[in-house]
This record gives sequence, C-alpha cells and structure tokens, in this order.
Amino acid sequence: MVARVVPVGAFDLVVFGATGDLARRKLIPALYHRLHDGQMPDGARVIGAARSELDADGFRRMADAALGEFVGASALEPEARARFLATLDYVQLDAVSGEGLEALGAALGPAEPGRPRAFYLSVAPRFFGPIAEQIHAHGLAGPDCRIVIEKPLGHDLATARALNACFTGHFDERQIYRIDHYLGKETVQNLMALRFANALFEPLWNARHVDHVQITVAESVGVDGRGPYYDGVGAMRDMVQNHLLQLLCLIAMEPPARFEPDAVRDEKLKVLRALAPVAEADVVRGQYMGSNGSAAYTAEAEAADSLTESFVALRAGVDNWRWAGVPFYLRTGKRLRARVSEIAVAFREVPHLIFPARGGRAQQNVLAIRLQPDEGIRLSMTIKDPGPGGMRLAPAELDMTFADRLAASALRMPDAYERLVMDVIRGDQTLFMRGDEVEAAWAWIDPIIAGWEER
Ligand code: NAP
Repeated sequence: MVARVVPVGAFDLVVFGATGDLARRKLIPALYHRLHDGQMPDGARVIGAARSELDADGFRRMADAALGEFVGASALEPEARARFLATLDYVQLDAVSGEGLEALGAALGPAEPGRPRAFYLSVAPRFFGPIAEQIHAHGLAGPDCRIVIEKPLGHDLATARALNACFTGHFDERQIYRIDHYLGKETVQNLMALRFANALFEPLWNARHVDHVQITVAESVGVDGRGPYYDGVGAMRDMVQNHLLQLLCLIAMEPPARFEPDAVRDEKLKVLRALAPVAEADVVRGQYMGSNGSAAYTAEAEAADSLTESFVALRAGVDNWRWAGVPFYLRTGKRLRARVSEIAVAFREVPHLIFPARGGRAQQNVLAIRLQPDEGIRLSMTIKDPGPGGMRLAPAELDMTFADRLAASALRMPDAYERLVMDVIRGDQTLFMRGDEVEAAWAWIDPIIAGWEER
C-alpha cells in the first residue's frame, strides 16, 4: 500500500512577516498539520521574522494563539502542539534597513548541503525586492535555498517584469516559488487526475464536443478591512490575472508529457499565449451597492468616486485547434449571493433526440468541478425517470463530493498551503507559476484594463 504521507527531510523555513495575517491564518496552521501527520521531521526549524519586539517564547505564544484560533482548540493534539511549538524560533528584523539580518544569519548557521533553506515572503510586495537583496547581501542564500512569494506579482506587465528581473538577479528560476494557492487545492489537482489519468474525457475535451466552459469564483464577503488596498487593484488584477487564468490553463492545456514542473508549465504558457484579445463587448464590470444592512463598495473602500470593479465577467477564447470557437466565461466578484468557486464544462447537446417531445428534454451534460465549498466533482446526466409512465427523461447527477469519501476514511481535507509549503521543501515547482506565465497573463490582462481606463 502507498503511504499517505511522504516525510520530507529536515529543513529551515524562514517566514518574513511571521506576525501577519497570512502567517497566522494559513502558514502556522498548515505547518502544524504537516507535523501532526508525520510529514515534518524532528530536525525541521521554522524561524519567524518581523519587526515586532518578540523573543522566541513570545513568538511561540503568538503561534499557539493562532493555532487555537484557526485550527481550533478541540482539534489540536497536545503532544503534536508542543512538538510543533518547539520547532519555532524568532528573529526581530527590519527587512528594509537590513537591521537584524545578521542575527538571522546567526540563527540559521552555515548552510548544510542537503538541508533545504526556504524564505517565505509573507509581507507586502514592496518588501519583496529589499528582502531578496538583503538575503543575498548577507550571504544567506545557498544552492539549496528557495524563495517563496505570493500575489500580487506585479500590477501590470511592466511591474511584473521588474519583479521577475529583481528575483532572477539574485536567484535561479528553479529557486523561485510563486504561489497561486488555488493550484494547491485538492480539487484542482484532481482536475489534472480527472483529465490525464482517465481515458473517458480526453476524446471529448475539445471544440467538437464542448459547448462552453464557465469558471466562477464568487465571494459573499465585501472588501472588509482590505478596502483601500483593494481599491487600487480591483477584481481583474486581484482574481482574474492569477486564479481564474490558472484554472483556465488547467482546463485548456494539452496533456504534458510528464507531471513535471516545466512540462506542465510549458503547456500552461501555451494556453496563455493563445488567449484571444477580449473585445469591448465581451467584458462587463460592476461594483456592489449597499443591501441588507451591508455597506456599498464605495463606503467599504473609503473611496466615494471609485470606479474600481468588485465584479467582472468576460468571454475569453483560446485560439488553437482544440478550442477554436469555444467560449470560456470567467466571472468573479465580491458580495455575491453565495461563496462558490466552480468550473463547469458544458458538453454539446445530443445531435438528435429519439424520444417523443412530451417525455421532456435531454439535459446538456455538465461536468462541474467544485473548488469550494464542498470540494468535489459532479456530472449531470439525463436518465429515464424511474417507474411507470412511459419514456420520460429526467435530470440526474453523478456526485463525487470529496468530503463524503474523506469522512468515510476519517481523513481531513488538507488546506492548499499544506501541500504547497511541503512542495517548496521537496523542491517540486509543478504547482507554482513560472515567471513567463505571470508575464503572459499580464500581457493579456493589460489591454483590457487599458481599454477601461481610456473610456
Ligand atoms: P499583514 O497582515 O499586513 O502582515 C505583514 C507582515 O509584514 C507583518 O508580520 C509585519 O510584521 C511584517 N512587516 C512589515 N514591515 C516589515 C519590515 N520592514 N520588515 C520586516 N517585516 C515587516 O499582511 P498579510 O495579509 O499577512 O499578507 C502578506 C503577503 O501575502 C502580502 O503580499 C499579501 O498580498 C499576500 N497574501 C495574503 C493573503 C492573506 O490571506 N492574508 C492571501 C494571499 C496573499 P511587523 O509589523 O511585526 O514588522
């Protein structure tokens, strides 16, 4: 039987911005779960770094509170909790002035061959460049070192290029891990298994059989505390440029020769480069108004005259042999009716219906891959309505909700960050974006935004 958890070797993980929201809400809980599940070895060290005046014990108390809040006191196992907290250390530093970087070097000690060293930049993007430079200037980067960054990876093509140039000036591309946490989601990885480990769908996966594809990432929350930041970004840059385009790539890409980083990323890049320019009539944007006691976008963003879009929907096309003429509808927004992320692949209708019209219509077959909530895959079919009454057609669903299967096997659905952080340590870039992918996505997005700004 294949082990469910493949342990990684001992490592050092430095989290810049360890006192921030992402670290407390996602990274610390993810690392706890990996240790609890036996994947993080005893010799592993996690070094938090930020300006806050804390010592190692203070940081452990902060991390412990984060575990209580985001894992839940009842879900924590005392022995694993204590072992996890013992792996933590803290260095007070300022990433801009470089103060404290020497102490970080002392805490890390000399690089050991075969012991990966990862720097996770859980800080605002304006610190990415200075931190990359400080790591280099203080000689903290070795051949086995990795650097991890997350969106926003630039504001447009020019800034994305500058960011890539800054990182590639100090690190090799194979050391740079650009996270899109959607790629770490179980269902998204399952989408690749569905497409490339089953013979069933591949013959149908093209313009002859697919009518259209819909990719929806709907949020029920507004901009909440992120208002002023979000107002300078908008839905197109915040969601479409990264998450929605990455999902589109996984649906539209050709089968890679191997499930290896560059083989997968080469195929995604070809999709991005085949995206047709979007006509003005094929994109709509909107902004939520106040309703049911919640404030309007302009109030939450503290920008009375803002034209920033909190919603965008567009029709994209992939100009290649496989997808010519198939619309890919992308839509995302805040303060929508429900929180749901889903990819729906709608197949063409049957060419001729042999059943009498009074028996009802055949439904379009739709393969729906749900990312959240209730991760799973559904295939809508048409069946005969059971029982007497002649040949009447009725819709039915083949439902594979992962939560049911996991509940039966007493397993927990891992968070995307658990998978991604361990991939960083393992040195597997398959689920991370390459610099040229990020640039190709911006090259497609920029003219759409420029068109809005012109008008
Ligand atoms: P945050 O809550 O504002 O945390 C920022 C961190 O940076 C804090 O720990 C802060 O600690 C530290 N910091 C600020 N100035 C510093 C300096 N000069 N030197 C060293 N450390 C400094 O931000 P966040 O929400 O965690 O986001 C971090 C990054 O992840 C951002 O790039 C964000 O866009 C991205 N991201 C976040 C989320 C999320 O869910 N939060 C999701 C996707 C992407 P001190 O004040 O103690 O220095």
